[in-house]
Amino acid sequence: MDTDSAKAAVDKATLYVVATPIGNLGDITLRALDVLKAVDVIAAEDTRVTVRLLNRHGIAARMFAVHEHNERRAAERVIDLLAGGSAVALVSDAGTPGIADPGAEVVAAVRAAGYPVVPIPGPNAAAAVLSASGFDASRFLFCGFLPARAAERRRVLAELAAQTAPLVFYEAPHRVVASVADLCDVLGGARGIVIARELTKIHETLHHCRLSEAVAWLEADDYRQRGEFVLAVQGAAAAPRKDGTDAEPVLKILLEELPLKQAVALSAKLTGGSRNALYKLALGIKGET
Ligand code: SAM
Repeated sequence: MDTDSAKAAVDKATLYVVATPIGNLGDITLRALDVLKAVDVIAAEDTRVTVRLLNRHGIAARMFAVHEHNERRAAERVIDLLAGGSAVALVSDAGTPGIADPGAEVVAAVRAAGYPVVPIPGPNAAAAVLSASGFDASRFLFCGFLPARAAERRRVLAELAAQTAPLVFYEAPHRVVASVADLCDVLGGARGIVIARELTKIHETLHHCRLSEAVAWLEADDYRQRGEFVLAVQGAAAAPRKDGTDAEPVLKILLEELPLKQAVALSAKLTGGSRNALYKLALGIKGET
């Protein structure tokens, strides 16, 4: 694209929030490239990271840094640029800005100042995992990073235990075993998990198993604990009863004594949970899914 037609890809005095690759530099949309070429300035979380992407695609751009510690000042700078008629792009190091990344403060300030903000959608690690999870993600709960301290982490997980939608977590390599152990302890071992590491990169791995098997899988090889992680966990099978009784323990006990269909029917009556959801959970407990 020549400079004039590239300029046509953007409007003056507009902020573009541009998603960038989460590993493989080829994962960038044509529109994102057009916008990055055409804007007057790029506000980047770390200019050293973004310059690699720009070099790969032959884009020379003016840049300045916007990270979590200077986001307010960066927002003022973006607004000054917009006031002067410039088109500005906001990017983070990887994926979609504002999702477990800086960006929200800049966007809020720009909106409040009355300038348009245009999203340029693209890669996001949570969406990538869900798309390959096989979980019903017509609803899902993105939980970001779990707390680093075990007690706080377990408290947060206890609050999430009744959620029926799949849960998605980002995790650091040095905490992945501890977090997965807590997921299993607090949510129960029967749920499915997808441990996704190094998505779109050379050593990409997506491992599907039950929560009860996940720590052993990670510990079987130190290599499996390296890199960047997303954990997607199946939601609770049935809503808890109004009196707080969870369906899963009831179902487990009944399954030890009764045929599957009967155990499902009885646990639905006892807990008020949905038969369909309990049936799926029962198959999971029996290891038949
Ligand atoms: N804004 C990004 C997005 O849209 O996904 C997320 C940025 S957040 C600071 C970084 C975390 O996202 C990593 O610690 C990891 O949990 C997850 N992540 C990012 N890229 C990843 C990848 N290629 N493979 C697995 N997880 C990744």
